Amino acid sequence: MPLPQRLPIFADRFNRLMTGSTMTEPIAVMQELNIALRGLPIYEGIALMAERFPGQTVFSTSFGIEDQVLTDIIARGGLPVRIFTLDTGRLFQETYSVWSATLQTYGIDIEAFAPDSTGLEAWLKAHGPNGFYESVENRKSCCHIRKVQPLQRALQGNRVWITGIRAAQSANRDTMPVLEWDEVNRIIKYHPLLHMTYDELRRHVAAHGVPINPLHDRGFVSIGCAPCTRAIREGEDFRAGRWWWEDHSKKECGLHAHQKT
Ligand code: SF4
Repeated sequence: MPLPQRLPIFADRFNRLMTGSTMTEPIAVMQELNIALRGLPIYEGIALMAERFPGQTVFSTSFGIEDQVLTDIIARGGLPVRIFTLDTGRLFQETYSVWSATLQTYGIDIEAFAPDSTGLEAWLKAHGPNGFYESVENRKSCCHIRKVQPLQRALQGNRVWITGIRAAQSANRDTMPVLEWDEVNRIIKYHPLLHMTYDELRRHVAAHGVPINPLHDRGFVSIGCAPCTRAIREGEDFRAGRWWWEDHSKKECGLHAHQKT
């Protein structure tokens, strides 16, 4: 699809807006992007962002079904979007298998970001291999070393972060926007699957032969690290399978803080 030519060059404008120590959210650019994205199918939306922010649009995958659908759209469409993943070192073997299958299926590069070895060694020495079960603080510091810090490195220097977040899996599903400003990482987050249903994901997977994690068929909805994820039961909230031993209100790992609508 030819992209609208009347739109300004967002990357230049964004960089100008972001110059200055007190600048926070680039509201004007986000408003224009929102208008440009309105009504666009997923492929065209991602293409538009990659065109407006060339070389600065990245997609993070954890190989769940949402991310696999996005990888399929990006890879089959040849979109110029860098794909990366966070290898925490504690993923399910099934996740590593679907990672391998994805490389073989699409012949693409997926960059892996691992925890800093010095920080991880110190954490393991202080808390042991399963210390994240002992307190919320331990769990959060483990997530910080294994996920948040590598994510910060992966996002550095980029302008758009594409995610597989869907509104149906979000606590603020009614107000969740397709674009968010991430003040911590100073990057625009773009959620192209926001309004896609689980049935639509399944239909896309079946139609295009997308490799998916077999754990989805065993009750795992949101798949993270193996020791911290379990299958959910009928009627349970999708987040019930993550850090199930903790109070519901404390369940976040620091990757996605929904600050802005
Ligand atoms: S999900 Fe569990 S194992 Fe993975 S980084 Fe967080 S606390 Fe550590």
